[in-house]
Amino acid sequence: MRDKLAERLNVEFRERESVETLRELASRFQGKIVFTTSFGIEDQVITDMIFRNDIPVKVVTLDTGRLFEETYKVYNRTLEQYNKPIYTYYPRHELLEPFIAEKGPNSFYLSVENRKMCCHIRKVEPLGRALSEMSCWITGIRASQSQNREDMEFFEWDEAFSMIKYNPLLKWSLEDCREYVKVNHVPYNVLHDRGFVSIGCAPCTRAIQPGEDFRAGRWWWENNSKKECGLHSH
Ligand code: SF4
Repeated sequence: MRDKLAERLNVEFRERESVETLRELASRFQGKIVFTTSFGIEDQVITDMIFRNDIPVKVVTLDTGRLFEETYKVYNRTLEQYNKPIYTYYPRHELLEPFIAEKGPNSFYLSVENRKMCCHIRKVEPLGRALSEMSCWITGIRASQSQNREDMEFFEWDEAFSMIKYNPLLKWSLEDCREYVKVNHVPYNVLHDRGFVSIGCAPCTRAIQPGEDFRAGRWWWENNSKKECGLHSH
């Protein structure tokens, strides 16, 4: 039934432009449609589509407390440029404080379990609050970002959060995003100019070399197959 909804939307919107689709979804899921941004280049494209066209979608971000200074700068520049609200969710202190007291601030380097717990406390739990009461979730996922994402569809049913997910940039390349940002004067994270492609928390993100996998700069000390933080299931 729920998969059928994603299937129906995939057929209905197959030929439609992203902005037109966002507008239509905002009208169908009034007050229940949310976009999560981490201020990466894909997210900045979607933010521009939403804010420039006054599409009534709630824009939210997760501040893990471990972000790059450059990320806060693009966050601030985005607020200045569009003069629209971005709602920020933080980790719950009652979860984070005992975790840090027991494991220390950088335990994610020591085991996958610690890393997943850190991601859970700093990202997944706040995301759950950001998505609660919502019915449609817009994301900046692109198929070419990782092997796990190659078989994704524009619309998917997200089992973990029990809601429809729309990935407007699924078929875009990184170059398409760069071009959009340039042509439309969209603020972007300057780390992208220094070899960073997927930008998350500072201690867990590094630049990649030309030809390296998109996710190679995330949790580089771990096996490739485990490199998702639990935000996106499909
Ligand atoms: S990316 Fe690293 S610092 Fe950020 S929440 Fe996950 S483990 Fe913690």
